[in-house]
Parts: sequence; structure tokens; C-alpha cells
Amino acid sequence: MEHFESQGHLPSPLVAGRDYPTTYREFIEWFSDEAACVAYLEALRWPDGFECPQCGIAGEPWRETRGRLVCRSCRHQSSVTAGTLLEKTRTPLTTWFEAAWHVTTTKNGFSAKSLERTLGVRYRVAWTMLQRFRVAMVRAEREPLSGSVEVDEARVGGVEHDGKPGRGTRKCVVAIAVEVKQPMGFGRVRMRHVTDASAASLRLFVCAMVAPGATVHTDGWSGYNWLAQSPYSHQRTVMSASEDPAHVAMPGVHRIASLLKRWILGTHQGSVSDEHLQAYLEEFTFRFNRRTSRSRGLVFRRLLEQVATTAHISEADLIHGYQW
Ligand SMILES: [Zn+2]
Repeated sequence: MEHFESQGHLPSPLVAGRDYPTTYREFIEWFSDEAACVAYLEALRWPDGFECPQCGIAGEPWRETRGRLVCRSCRHQSSVTAGTLLEKTRTPLTTWFEAAWHVTTTKNGFSAKSLERTLGVRYRVAWTMLQRFRVAMVRAEREPLSGSVEVDEARVGGVEHDGKPGRGTRKCVVAIAVEVKQPMGFGRVRMRHVTDASAASLRLFVCAMVAPGATVHTDGWSGYNWLAQSPYSHQRTVMSASEDPAHVAMPGVHRIASLLKRWILGTHQGSVSDEHLQAYLEEFTFRFNRRTSRSRGLVFRRLLEQVATTAHISEADLIHGYQW
């Protein structure tokens, strides 16, 4: 971020790899007021300097009161938050930044309830911030999975009546894909709340998440038969109930599913509605895919970068029917 303008609190000049705070103390020092947050967002949204959202012409804008930026070419008025997820927010940027810091630097993140308590904001505000972060998080996961990829479905939420989970139980079906590394370990993960475990649903999921040419490892479920005639190479392990438990043949997906369930039950006390399940899956994915990041501060910066560059969505869309 060469164009980062120091606001006094910030180290100047910012050098590559040090454009994010590494400790909470540093975080507090850097983002003590709205101006510092605005400057940071500007650097994230326009890394090559301001570019007018209206006419697209680059060049330092006129700066007016209350953060208004006026294009010197077409005189269009904007701001660093206009058109982004932060558009017209009534919550101070310092609060948004603090929420982003807590969400990205704690191992399991925050529930809306704990964010409410920590920041002293209303529950509704905390919930909305988390939902907007989750919309931003999905944008960070663009690259399809590749190499060797395990795919399976897991059942999340709901109550098991007969204690026998299977493809017929009334739970949310979550399709999971995870890269499997040799000789051991996992790469990135992707997940989607799908309507069912049909071939049509699973095909849409795999084609959206996995790069052609990858080896896709599944169990013997007929919903994966189409993989035999596809741009993927299909590795199929048929298991009967009596032999190999699923986690032996599909260690990646089994592990992810149990981490996911534990996270929903632990951090979120299981209070995840069907309608918002995908939002939680996006947060889990974002966190999991950055679990080995060398700095939590870097993850904080990445989240804010997505917030600053993701298009605005209305409150109504956020609450009902956001199209993931
Ligand atoms: Zn303009």
C-alpha cells in the first residue's frame, strides 16, 4: 500500500508486510479515531490512489467535511464507504474495526451475543456487523480447489430422533470439499448448504468449487456417479456400514464436519437457523482457510480489504434471502 497516507498515529512510511497491526496495543494506537479508520479503508479500497466511482478517472479528489470526496473531473460526490458494505452505516468505523479485530484474532471468532457484550453495542448492531463480515468473507474465497479433493455431505443442525444419521434425516445438508495434501494434512475447504444430496445438487457444488482436472474422492453414493463422465478424475471408495468407518476413507471431510459442528455448538451455542446457515459456513471457511496465516493481523487486514471492496447490500437482503 504505497499510497497509505499517515494520519499521525500510523507508522510512516508503511512498509510491505507491515501494513497491519500485529498486536492489540498496536491496533488501539493505529485506529484511535474515525480519521485513522477512513485513511486505512481508503488505502485498502484504492491501493493505487482514489478512483472516481462515477467516471472512473483516477486522481486525488477534493476533500470536504464529513469524509466527502469530490471528483475533480466530474464533481461526483462520494466517500470511502459509499457503495460498499459500510454504506450509510450509523455505527462508528472505530467500532467496525474493533469488531473486525476481535473476529479475526480470536481462535473461534465471536457470536453476536459476545460481540454485543464486548463492544457495548446493541445485539442487532452486533448481528448485522457479523453478517456483513460474512458477506465480505465469501469474496475472499475465489480460487477453486485443486489437486486431490475429498467431497462428501454432512448433516448439520436439527435433531436426530432415531439416533441413526443418514441421507434421509431431516437436517440441513452441507456439501463439503477439502483439499488433501500428501503425505498428510489438509489444504483449503469450501462448503455449501444444499437442498439435498441429489446428483443435481452435488454436481452444481463440485463444478462451482473444484477446478477441472482435480481428482475428486467420494464414497459410493450414486449422487456422484456423474463424475465418471466429467472433467474430473473420480476416485470412489465404497463403504458398507460394517467395515471402514467414514473417517478412515474420508479423513478430511470427516474432520471438517466435526470441527464445524463443534464451532456451531460452541461459539454459537447451536443457534444457527437454516436460513442463515450459509453465512456461518462462509465464516467457518474463511477462518479455516487462514488457520496457518503467519499473522492474525494479516487476516484482519484481509477482512477489511474485502469489506472495503464488496458492493453494498440492503439490510432487508441481509436478513432475508441473501443470495450466497
Ligand atoms: Zn468522476
